[in-house]
Amino acid sequence: MIPPGQTIGIVGGGQLGRMLALTARRMGYRIAILDPDPACPASPVADLALTAPFDDTAALHRLAQASQVITYEFENLPIESLRLLASLCPVHPDPSVLHICQHRERERDFLQRSGFPAPRYAVVSSASELSAAQKSFAGKTRLKSSAFGYDGKGQLSLEPSADAAKAWDKIRVPRAILEEHVPFLRELSVITAWDATGGSVTYPPFENRHQDGILERTLFPAQVPETTAHHAAQLAGQIAKKIGLIGLLTVEMFELPDGALWVNELAPRVHNSGHLTAEACPTSQFEQQIRAVCGLPLGDVSPLSPAVMFNLLGDLWKHGEPDWAPLFALPGASLHLYGKAEARPGRKMGHLTIRSGTIEKAIRLGNEALNPLRQAAGLPNLA
Ligand code: AMP
Repeated sequence: MIPPGQTIGIVGGGQLGRMLALTARRMGYRIAILDPDPACPASPVADLALTAPFDDTAALHRLAQASQVITYEFENLPIESLRLLASLCPVHPDPSVLHICQHRERERDFLQRSGFPAPRYAVVSSASELSAAQKSFAGKTRLKSSAFGYDGKGQLSLEPSADAAKAWDKIRVPRAILEEHVPFLRELSVITAWDATGGSVTYPPFENRHQDGILERTLFPAQVPETTAHHAAQLAGQIAKKIGLIGLLTVEMFELPDGALWVNELAPRVHNSGHLTAEACPTSQFEQQIRAVCGLPLGDVSPLSPAVMFNLLGDLWKHGEPDWAPLFALPGASLHLYGKAEARPGRKMGHLTIRSGTIEKAIRLGNEALNPLRQAAGLPNLA
C-alpha cells in the first residue's frame, strides 16, 4: 500500500490530471506531473510540475525518482516512455494495457480474439484497400484512424457510395479501420476499478450523448433496463479481468435496439463520462483511481442521486467569459472550470453537473441554466 504523504506521478496534465491531482491532494498525497505544456491545467495544482516532451528520458527519470507509483491520464503517449517508467517505478494500469487501448487495431483485435462483442471491421492502409473493404459492408460505414484519435477526430462517416480515393485523401492517416455503422439506441459507458488483489468495483452505466463526435452530456444512471445495466457492468468487468487491469478502465458501448451491447472503445483511465461521480457517488472516479493504484480499499459506487453532466466547450466563450453567477445560484449544480487560458471552439473548458430528484428534472434545470449563456454566445438552445 502506498499511504497518503507519498507522491503519485501522473503522466499528462490535462483536465483529467488536474481533477486527479486535486482529489489526491485532498487525500493527503503529493503529486508530480509530466506534461509538455507549461500552462497545462494540472501544473498549478501539482507539487512538482515537470515540463518536457513525453519522450524526454531525463524528465521520465525525474518523474520516477519523485514518485512511489505512476499513473496516466492521456492515451497518446509513447509506449517506450511508459515502459521506461515501469522499469523504475510501479506503473498502473500496466503499459501493456495502454498499448492495447491506444491503438484501434490492437484494441479491436484484443476484443475479437477474446470473444467480446464489437462492430465488424476491416483494417485498411490505402485507397484501394478501403475500396475493397467498403464492398464487404452493405450499408454506411465509419472510417477511423488507427492511432491518435479522440473526440471523434480522425473519423469519417461514409455512405455506401462514397468515393474511396477521396475519403482516403481526406483522412490522411497511414492506417485506419473501416467499421460498420451501428444503428445504436443509446451510447453507454461503464467505469470499472480493479486493485492488485483482483478486487473490483464497477459504477452503474453512464448514458452519453455526443455532438460532432464530442461528448455533449452524460446522464446517470443510464436510463436502461436493469438487465442491460447488469450486462454492461459484467461485460466491463470481464474485459478488465482479461486485460489484466490495476486501476480504472472505461468501456464505451453501443446499446442496440434488441438490447445487445457492442464495445466501441476502451480507455484505461478516468473518463469524461465519469466526471459526475464527484457529486453523484460516495467515491468519485478520481478517488477510485487513486485508491486502486495506491492499494487502498476500493470505494462505494452506489448512486447518491440522479445527475446530469454537461460539457462546457470553448464555443461558449465566443464573446468573452460567460456569466457564471446564475449557475452558482442553482441548487444541486456544481461548476467545474479547468483553468485553460485559451478558449477554442470544441475545446473542453469545464463541465456542469446537476443533481436532482429525477434525471428529467436535472436535464430541465441544466438546459434552463445554460441556455442564456448559449444565447449570449450565439449558440442554439439546448432541448
Ligand atoms: P469514437 O471516437 O470511436 O468513440 O467515436 C466518437 C463517436 O462517433 C461515438 O461516440 C459515436 O457517437 C460515433 N460513432 C463511432 N463509431 C460509430 C459507428 N460504428 N456507428 C455509429 N456511430 C459511431
